Amino acid sequence: MSARYAPSANVIELTESATIAVSARAKSLRAAGRAVIDLGAGEPDFPTPTFIREGAKRALDAGATRYTLVEGILPLRETIAGRASAHLKINDVLPDQVVVSTGSKQALFNSCFVLFGEGDEVLVPTPAWTSYYQILTLARARAVIVRGSREHSLKATARDLEGAATPRTRGVILNSPTNPTGAVYDLDELREILSLAARCGWWVISDEIYREISYAAPAPSLLDAASGDAALGERLIVVDGVAKAYAMTGWRIGWSIAPLAVARAICALQSHTTSNASAVSQHAALCALTARDQADAAIAAMVGEFRRRRDVAVSMLREVKADFVEPRGAFYLFIRIPQRDNDAESGTTFARELLETRDVAVVPGAAFHTPEWIRISYAAPMEDVVEGVRRVIELLMSS
Ligand code: GLU
Repeated sequence: MSARYAPSANVIELTESATIAVSARAKSLRAAGRAVIDLGAGEPDFPTPTFIREGAKRALDAGATRYTLVEGILPLRETIAGRASAHLKINDVLPDQVVVSTGSKQALFNSCFVLFGEGDEVLVPTPAWTSYYQILTLARARAVIVRGSREHSLKATARDLEGAATPRTRGVILNSPTNPTGAVYDLDELREILSLAARCGWWVISDEIYREISYAAPAPSLLDAASGDAALGERLIVVDGVAKAYAMTGWRIGWSIAPLAVARAICALQSHTTSNASAVSQHAALCALTARDQADAAIAAMVGEFRRRRDVAVSMLREVKADFVEPRGAFYLFIRIPQRDNDAESGTTFARELLETRDVAVVPGAAFHTPEWIRISYAAPMEDVVEGVRRVIELLMSS
């Protein structure tokens, strides 16, 4: 079977996910017998906690094998809405504002697809996760890159966003803690951005998938920033899921919390694409979110381990005076690779050489529109983090 294929206009600009491609490459090299250290994948290396797996088994035996409502089972949406209301303090969030999707990636796709279209511009504080740019392109909108300054941990300020806005600006995608830098926006920064967006009538999509992985203080939600002022929450869509904090990547459960009309559009869209997210996975997520004592203990243990790895990696990088963003959340380290021979893609060249000559997989910063950087994920066993960072430093110093 070898028909000539010309990509449709829908996917003409589409490229595969660079973050996923790196871990796929690391896996295939491993399968071929190479001892590759994978610091590419943004995936917790822990198994899903036992109490969640047990909850899923019970749900299966009780018959969680059929379609559910497209938007997800009511107890899960009630729980998510209840947790959101606790942040917002006023204006109780309704279960009907919540749509459960197949991972937060689908929730983000749904949100962008129903909110934006041809001719719309959406501000993306950059560096940002590779899929935002592609999802916006699939929605036929234009991703506008807004660079944060180095002094500000590459975070974009309200002023940066205002400077990039045009009459066509329709929204902004925020992500704190940030993939790929690990930077965390504080409450004042979020409030300023939310106020600007409210003034300009922009939609704000807040990707909070790493919010529970935060090292200094709890990372604020955009819901905290909207708290006390109903007008600030009117155009806010919060996207979250269980993948990262609960080590549940493979279960594929994420959700969006949106104003009712937007939630209805998301639900209609999803009714034609995937219908409900996996029924048993929804029950597993319900168990994760409701068995609070066990969940809090499991998250504390995992975050504690991420913190140990972060501290070790950071002190190794500090020792050689590497330029990296101070990581305060998520499980990433973003390191600048000084240019050699005017190579504007120094991060890409470095990542390739690191894999070829030193068997360490990392994601080139080009995936996040910052080609002079690389991303390391320390969601890997401590010995891999130590040895991987040692080899990164060795290559950095060899130039
Ligand atoms: N979000 C993770 C990452 O950035 C997982 C892979 C993906 O879906 O991009 O590595």
